[in-house]
Amino acid sequence: MSTDQTDGIYLFQGNNLIVPEDVLEMSGFRGLPPERIRGAFGEVVPFLVPSVDGTHTIPGYLLDDTVALPPHWCSLSTRSALSLMAAEAGIGEILDGSGLIGRFFRIYHIMQWRRESVFCGSCGTRNGDAPVELARLCPSCGRLEYPRISPAIIVLIFREDGKILLAHNKKFAGKVYSLIAGFIEAGENLEAAVSREVREEVGLEVRDTTYVASQPWPFPNSLMIGFKTCYAGGRVTPDGEEIEDARWFGREELPDLPGFGSVSRYLINLWIEGRL
Ligand SMILES: [Zn+2]
Repeated sequence: MSTDQTDGIYLFQGNNLIVPEDVLEMSGFRGLPPERIRGAFGEVVPFLVPSVDGTHTIPGYLLDDTVALPPHWCSLSTRSALSLMAAEAGIGEILDGSGLIGRFFRIYHIMQWRRESVFCGSCGTRNGDAPVELARLCPSCGRLEYPRISPAIIVLIFREDGKILLAHNKKFAGKVYSLIAGFIEAGENLEAAVSREVREEVGLEVRDTTYVASQPWPFPNSLMIGFKTCYAGGRVTPDGEEIEDARWFGREELPDLPGFGSVSRYLINLWIEGRL
């Protein structure tokens, strides 16, 4: 594999993306030129991740946590970076695994996985890289470890009058309201996960759950699987644990919504545009 000449290196430290201050305009961000990194941090040898479609590689490099950033470089939370990258992106771009945002998701996911899989989970030996696959290989016990992907459902709930349910989670910034979401339990199918999460978080029953779209969401390692479903009974009762408030909203009275770049915003926008 050779480094794609059109892609620079995605530089990370911990969970954050490292960039010079002058590239904060990130709508077309595709990594940093090697010479830019060399000037600030010396020579780095990036790890090359094959793109999802196999047509090119995406170079990533993880700075050691102890490295101090030079003047005029900054550490950007990857969620902030995503918002900047997605601000001008179309919906197709956001969901396209080979697009700029898809590539950022992939390199971020893989670099985080590499950071967290240094040692074998079975015997504790320092892992190596598997020779032909994107996997860690333990030289002692032979255990293979692939990038972890944790599926989660996210669901837009309709009511007969056309309103949708939006909820404020304690973890959300400000007064943002979004869709009900949650991880799939071991042994559970997707439709059951939708029904359970809706019941647990807001006390409602739903029916006619159908798939709409999915999106990798590597914060840290999810695959968000988006559904729509119909209200079938119950009274909105936020669980008080994760969900502080949940209400039915019409198109004319929307609260603060999640940022562009997320499948939640994508589903909400489809509904706003009358496409769901
Ligand atoms: Zn081992």
